[in-house]
Amino acid sequence: MTVQPNSIEARDAAYQLHSYSNARKMEAEGSLILEEGEGIYVTDNTGKRYIEGLSGLWSVAVGFGEQRLIDAANAQMQKLPYYHTFAQKSHTPSVELAEKLIEMAPVPMSKVFFTNSGSEANDTVVKLLWYRANAMGTPEKKKIISRIKGYHGVTVASASLTGLPYNHMSFDLPLPGILHTGCPHYGGFAQDGESEEQFVARLAQELDDMIQSEGPDTIAAFIGEPVMGAGGVIVPPEGYWAAIQAVLKKYDILLIADEVICGFGRTGKMFGCETMGIEPDIMVMSKQLSSSYMPISAVMMNDRVYQPVADESDKIGTFGHGYTGSGHPVGAAVALENIKIIEERDLVGNAAKLSPLFIERLTALTDNPLVKEMRGIGLIGALELKQQGDAVGVAGAAMSAACMERGLIVRNLGDTVALCPPLIITEAQLNELFDIYADALASLS
Ligand code: PLP
Repeated sequence: MTVQPNSIEARDAAYQLHSYSNARKMEAEGSLILEEGEGIYVTDNTGKRYIEGLSGLWSVAVGFGEQRLIDAANAQMQKLPYYHTFAQKSHTPSVELAEKLIEMAPVPMSKVFFTNSGSEANDTVVKLLWYRANAMGTPEKKKIISRIKGYHGVTVASASLTGLPYNHMSFDLPLPGILHTGCPHYGGFAQDGESEEQFVARLAQELDDMIQSEGPDTIAAFIGEPVMGAGGVIVPPEGYWAAIQAVLKKYDILLIADEVICGFGRTGKMFGCETMGIEPDIMVMSKQLSSSYMPISAVMMNDRVYQPVADESDKIGTFGHGYTGSGHPVGAAVALENIKIIEERDLVGNAAKLSPLFIERLTALTDNPLVKEMRGIGLIGALELKQQGDAVGVAGAAMSAACMERGLIVRNLGDTVALCPPLIITEAQLNELFDIYADALASLS
């Protein structure tokens, strides 16, 4: 792609610093400019149509152009376009959404705190844990254990929780007190001759050792995505979450489930916690919460977390945290309508129903000599391609470009090429997606 003078691409390069882009490369090549979306498809400024194979950023569950969400936003804009939730003020959409989320929770939960992004939600979690530790008279119990390759966002605290090099390099992160334990990717981290069972037992032992060496009284919580997304679509082996939870229970360490990608049907059940048998103390939600039509996220906590926080706010006089946009009425109204659509159209059931075809079509491609491994569950999956010599990500970028050329947007995370289509996808559309994906892979051989 060459950038034409005064084009939208040139103006984009002139005025924007883009997320997760090489700024110099972007200045030279420009970006893909999307103009419209309908169902699982988006169209660029030249009129070329693509299947959105990653639902935007793992988020547009109900597809593009959903009239009910447009109407919900419009109606709320007219009624009360903005109000906040500071200083004992509230409004009906935030109340109804909080009530709905508590009702949907797979384990007993007590309160919801609203934020605007997954990063802000995880940042809020860190602050809640610190506040709670002070409230409980255990100020040393503030460390948080995350995982290598976990993804939890990009604010100072949430980027520290993230366990990926680009989120730390040159940013002087992670913060002290945030630790990273092993990644449950068997294909990537198993030792020679180690069975899946042995691998799981080793990861649990490594966690136990880390807690022992840091001091159990210094660890507040463990955070993890039920299935890792941005770290490369990593589905933990059988028994992993049970083994991790047993260690945490032993030391009275809280468990935070980051459901930002998994939540609202992605893994074939409403929450990843249900798919993976996780009983969290805190759940973090965003993305498919509103199908990303509006930026909204939520931190849901049980009484173990809430009660000491409430006591502390009483002692100090206030809970000194919150965003201007926390529980935004338009965001909340859109999220409520989005959840209604997910339930009424049984999109969770659709993900579960189409999952065998999704996995079968991914698996069929593992015959290709360029493929190292296939991973997937529900309607999230990926092929990891073999690295080309020392060049990490070159094979993945080539596959991503070949898909784009053929009208399919995917996301390569290094050499892992991820798929996460909208949950409204039909069987015929899923086959259409895989026909393109397979053709793109064949073109690289
Ligand atoms: N947590 C998880 C599991 C994510 O996948 C993401 C984003 O991809 C985040 C948190 C951060 O969300 P945001 O980009 O909205 O800040």
